[in-house]
Amino acid sequence: MEMDDHKRRRNMILYVIIALLVYLILNTLLFPNMGQQAQITDVSYSTLLDDLENKEVDRIDYTTGEYDAVYTRKGEADNVAYQTTILPGSEDTLIQLIRDSGAEIDVVVPNNDSSLWTYYLMTLVLPFLIFFLIGWWFNRRMKKASGDDGPSMNFGGGFGGMGGGGLGKSGARKVKSEDVGVTFKDVAGQEEAKESLKEVVDFLENPKRYEAIGARLPRGALLVGPPGTGKTLLAKAVAGEAGVSFFSISGSEFVEMFVGRGAAKVRDLFKQANENAPCIVFIDEIDAVGKRRDQGLSTNDEREQTLNQLLTEMDGFDNHKGIVVLAATNRPDSLDPALLRPGRFDRRIPVELPDLAGRKAILELHAKDVKTQPPIDLSAIARATPGASGADLANIINEGALRAVRMGRSRAMQEDFEESVEVVIAGQQRKSTVLSDHEKQVVSYHEIGHAIVAASMKEGAPVTKITIVPRTSGALGYTMQVEEDEKFLTTRQEALDKLAVYCGGRAAEELIFNEMTTGAANDIEQATKLARNMITRFGMSDEFGMMALGTVQNAYLNQDTSLTCAPGTAEHVDEAVRKLIEDAHSRALQILKENKFKLHELARYLYKKETITGQEFMTLLKRENPLMPPKPQA
Ligand code: ADP
Ligand code: MG
Ligand code: ZN
Repeated sequence: MEMDDHKRRRNMILYVIIALLVYLILNTLLFPNMGQQAQITDVSYSTLLDDLENKEVDRIDYTTGEYDAVYTRKGEADNVAYQTTILPGSEDTLIQLIRDSGAEIDVVVPNNDSSLWTYYLMTLVLPFLIFFLIGWWFNRRMKKASGDDGPSMNFGGGFGGMGGGGLGKSGARKVKSEDVGVTFKDVAGQEEAKESLKEVVDFLENPKRYEAIGARLPRGALLVGPPGTGKTLLAKAVAGEAGVSFFSISGSEFVEMFVGRGAAKVRDLFKQANENAPCIVFIDEIDAVGKRRDQGLSTNDEREQTLNQLLTEMDGFDNHKGIVVLAATNRPDSLDPALLRPGRFDRRIPVELPDLAGRKAILELHAKDVKTQPPIDLSAIARATPGASGADLANIINEGALRAVRMGRSRAMQEDFEESVEVVIAGQQRKSTVLSDHEKQVVSYHEIGHAIVAASMKEGAPVTKITIVPRTSGALGYTMQVEEDEKFLTTRQEALDKLAVYCGGRAAEELIFNEMTTGAANDIEQATKLARNMITRFGMSDEFGMMALGTVQNAYLNQDTSLTCAPGTAEHVDEAVRKLIEDAHSRALQILKENKFKLHELARYLYKKETITGQEFMTLLKRENPLMPPKPQA
């Protein structure tokens, strides 16, 4: 985007410079007189006679029938001339005087209209014509450069003759109702979103019914949610359900290419929609064009124009015909408030990450297309994937099917799906990474460190798998914990326990090898993020209590928090974060010290087996150690 803007601006400047140059060259070559103003002074007839007598006249132009003479004097600049009226009837004597003085005489037939016309044509019209031609040529070149004729501009049938000479084509893709091929059946979970959209479908099916009662239906609905939750899918499903055409364009497509095209595209999009009503206009990733207009100093005129045009069109279209504008975004906070006011995108439909039941439904939906070998337990997969989006889940099913093919099977098994969860979370297994013996030991102790700390917590998700097979994500091993049930709240104690589990890996390294490695980098990052959130957002510190110290910027993207407190307070926050993590670290260290024998035993077991299940882990952990004195019962 940035690059495009730059290029466009540079091209504009180039264009203006070339046009100016051409204009100047034409002026000096073709119309050299245009810049030179003649200075003509009115003088009396006797002055002319005197000048002739003194032989000072250089040249005289006499216009027949008008008794007008213009003459120049010897030794004066070319553009200085004198004009006088000749006494009628005195021509003969005048000629004699001129001949005597030796001046040159020329007789001029008065200017007729046609020469005046050529003059205007040459000085006014021609430069304009040249400007226009250059502009047209540039425009054509730019369009070629930006691939305007490429497949992205493919218009469906019935689109011919849209837009002014190819300048304003909206670039929207039209999908005919029968080709949408997606209905609400293809969207799993998201029941609330579907419920809200059913009304839109009904409106598109019978706009007359709503008109009759005088109801004003929402013109636009905004689908808001994290990436991959099915926003685009839902918009298509609305079109499929209602059996209407579907125009889709992405916000960034509005804001590309030649200056001023964005607004023209919006205009044409709505024109097309109007001709094809009832239909759905879908603007994907609307934040690209709909960003708040007051943000920052660097304004983007092109984007603002496009946005203004969009606002105008949203007000202007006749929605009795059955046009509904849907838009999707994962940055609703950055949208211009004008877009969200009643009559525009006044309906906000949240499309959140699926919960446990939703995840299971999505998995089942996608697994239908895959040949599977029972027993298949998709609930287990759903439990293992909290926070996964619909797109992630679809990907997990597909990866599982791919793995079955790789293994030379004709049906996918539970094990394939389980493995693909790990692929989606941690990347493919990386066979090429060969750890040294010592490194492998360190990783074993690190992972068992996490697992033992996790297992010693009263609550908290049980360990389901521990592995030290390196992954393409860079992880050298990991410990998987899966909650039994869906969790919506986390208590302070649970958060503290989690911090201790994060610290368990590094603590084990320190305890056994008296050494630190880079392997804990990810744990440290996660722990810090959690601790910081506990203090700045969840009000879980004694020092600050329920004071909000930060705001979440992109709730649907990365959840980045920015501090909103004074710099002095920020220092205290850092100190509090450090304290939280330090406490968790000592707690983890303490737990591992108490279970040092188990740590050795389990780490050696993991080192040998490379991957162990949660069950194996728990049996070994619970087994009485003959060398250990029995624990005193409290
Ligand atoms: P978004 O537009 O929200 O980023 P998409 O609608 O493009 O996400 O979803 C990408 C893909 O993920 C879809 O094509 C579909 O295969 C899958 N998907 C996402 N959400 C769902 C869902 N709720 N039900 C079924 N499939 C889904
Ligand atoms: Mg999308
Ligand atoms: Zn770790």
